[in-house]
Amino acid sequence: MNATVFRNVSVLDGTGNPAFPGSVLVEGNKIAAVVPAAAPLAFGDARVIDGRCATLMPGLIEAHSHLSFTDFAQSVELGFIPPEEHTLRTAQNARRMLDAGFTSCFSGASAKPRLDIVLRNAIDSGDFPGPRTLAASPEMTVTSGLGDARLYHMYRENFAVVCNGAEEFRRFSREMVREGVDTLKMNVSGDDGVPASRADTTVMNEAEVEAVCDVAHAHGKRIAAHARSAEAVKMCVRHGVGVIYHATLLDDEAKAALEDAKDEVFVAPVIGHLYTTLNEAGPWGISREVAEKRGTGRELERGIESMKDLKRRGVRILIGGDYGFAWNRIGTNARDIAHFVNLLGFTPMDAIVAATKLGGEIMGMGDRLGQIKAGYLADLLLVNGNPLEDVTILQDQNRISGVMKNGVFWRAPDATGVGSVRH
Ligand SMILES: [Zn+2]
Repeated sequence: MNATVFRNVSVLDGTGNPAFPGSVLVEGNKIAAVVPAAAPLAFGDARVIDGRCATLMPGLIEAHSHLSFTDFAQSVELGFIPPEEHTLRTAQNARRMLDAGFTSCFSGASAKPRLDIVLRNAIDSGDFPGPRTLAASPEMTVTSGLGDARLYHMYRENFAVVCNGAEEFRRFSREMVREGVDTLKMNVSGDDGVPASRADTTVMNEAEVEAVCDVAHAHGKRIAAHARSAEAVKMCVRHGVGVIYHATLLDDEAKAALEDAKDEVFVAPVIGHLYTTLNEAGPWGISREVAEKRGTGRELERGIESMKDLKRRGVRILIGGDYGFAWNRIGTNARDIAHFVNLLGFTPMDAIVAATKLGGEIMGMGDRLGQIKAGYLADLLLVNGNPLEDVTILQDQNRISGVMKNGVFWRAPDATGVGSVRH
């Protein structure tokens, strides 16, 4: 059997327990043993990696990925990309995520109906490299909602599919089930980037949300929602939506509803995109002034307050920041970990748990993914330095000398233990 042993590493296991010096044995695609440095470990003829005190941690898990987003400035750019080119771009993005140390992605929506699905299948069959992926539908939205890019005199596509009324939502949900999605995604609230439907509006009605949820529940699919307004969040919780994105503009009722549902629900505030839209999107026409006018600054402030409150209530809050925009590029996803520390007041340990253990849980694999434990899948990063002292080192690919997915190195440390060899 293919075996690798990491010796002389600081094991940061993703559980939230302190890191400790030790060794980790990988056999096949699983972690076979985790032992403290002083303990004996039989590893036969396993390939030996001397970590030289580097950190060994679980692969990072993105809770709101858009592998088919192309680092665009205007969402209508997506509509101009033919499916064939778009498929290749999506496969390329999957490699970029592995390069950045992300070994799993829970999709926050596909830009065309089948892109996530074919990519997931190609990765699962070993035909293309990429993170473990749960495939989402495109964003289902209402006329005037986020992703309705049409002009009155001109049809335009972007990343969403427009549905109106429960029957249209039901029909499209069933089509996506037929095509093989894992997750149905809907835009329940508006968004600051949409003049007709700002973030504090709730654009889908109860019957429409219920229709999507009925289809998902009947077929055992996951449901994810773009929900910024308090009403949208409450509607989602009422209907059993398991993944709630943004959740920024909460009132007391919405916070209490999320707390009551905390064992079933995951929240990802998508803080990366909010932060960069406010602070770094000037070259693409969104100056600070423009962003403030849209309400982005106010939303970031309220989102920070909401997340601090939800964390106190024990709600699971995950990293995942809508990477795939020109000012918020794919591959920089680990910035979310630093945002959790700098903006949300997470300890580095809590932020890393949000990117590993909780990631395993949102993937539906909490019993075998996202932690370094015997029996867990061998998705591992070898990091030169201590991310608990400085989480920003996780943004530097030169510091991540080893990326292993499913027991196989995507990037292996070289003989010096500090550089790396891309496979
Ligand atoms: Zn998104």
